[in-house]
Amino acid sequence: MAHRITLVPGDGIGPEVAEAARLVIAAAGVHVDWDVQEAGQAVMDREGTPLPDRVLDAIRGSRTALKGPITTPVGTGFRSVNVALRRELDLFASIRPSRHLPGVPTRHPGVDLVVIRENTEDLYQGVEFERGSRDVRRLAEDLDELAGYRLRDDAGVTVKPISVSGTRRIVRFALEFARQHGRRKVTVGHKANIMRFSDGLFLSTALEIDRTDYPDIELDAMEIDELAMWLAWEPSVMDVLLLPNLYGDIVSDLCAGLVGGLGLAPGANLGWEYAVFEPVHGSAPDIAGRGVANPIAIILTSALMLRHLSEDDAAARMERAVAEVLEEGRVRTPDMGGTSTTEEVAGAIAARLG
Ligand code: ATP
Repeated sequence: MAHRITLVPGDGIGPEVAEAARLVIAAAGVHVDWDVQEAGQAVMDREGTPLPDRVLDAIRGSRTALKGPITTPVGTGFRSVNVALRRELDLFASIRPSRHLPGVPTRHPGVDLVVIRENTEDLYQGVEFERGSRDVRRLAEDLDELAGYRLRDDAGVTVKPISVSGTRRIVRFALEFARQHGRRKVTVGHKANIMRFSDGLFLSTALEIDRTDYPDIELDAMEIDELAMWLAWEPSVMDVLLLPNLYGDIVSDLCAGLVGGLGLAPGANLGWEYAVFEPVHGSAPDIAGRGVANPIAIILTSALMLRHLSEDDAAARMERAVAEVLEEGRVRTPDMGGTSTTEEVAGAIAARLG
């Protein structure tokens, strides 16, 4: 039976790499009934919004989407279309695996880790007070009264909320993910000694979670600065990293860099109900329309999606085909030092699946 999947090609290089993903998924023998939904810059003029309701409705219907990058046009009322999508669908977990692949230059050949980032709390909620505003002056009075803290007149403030309920669900999600993917250890990153009521709460909630259903999975913790040191020094010892929103954002790009950069980095935004799979990279306007974008990030993203749909065999074959093409090193896009096109790379991967 065919899987129904919403395809949002997105902006910039999105449509080019999305086409490549379709080709490779078909070559892997997986039947998909694609529901293509345009979003982003292209629909802004026609529909007055870069994220029409029909896109959200389509994903609610299919429950699974493969998405290219979407840029947020200025003056749309959106701070970020991607954040709005995550919020509407309650995609509270962002998953970014970083695995070294053969033939890709790196200083850390043994890396095979996954960053799980909490997507709905922390400093990214947009609760901000602008320097010099009336609201920041009111806040300053409260801070003085409640905490004895004198906010400087020229300060701006961003708020960092972290809750027990938000933390519990991401910890459960991380344990479940670890079990399903044969992982052994979840390391919680934090700065609990400095931010006791936000990071401290994240840490204590994680450590207190009932793990009787996950006897094989170790859960430990590390301060985020120490974690940064380990990621530069010996990242191959890391397994699953569970991080609040801001650290997760930074560390997942860092980890993409450890294993070959944005052209190879897969990702997913998941909740209990819906799953949106998208490569880590953006729309890369500098190379859009030239047919030279690296499709491997979205192809590895598609493999993650196929696993989610219980197509483990096809996913494994796709990952193997990518590894073989990389190892052989003949067909590569310019970001990897080659001269091949997006289509040629996708074709070489597809040919190994036929
Ligand atoms: P955004 O704001 O949409 O995240 P950005 O410009 O900050 O976009 P990206 O679009 O992800 O970041 O890319 C940064 C640069 O990395 C691009 O300009 C491009 O040169 C390169 N790049 C990103 N993705 C790819 C890819 N798939 N293939 C080749 N090069 C890429």
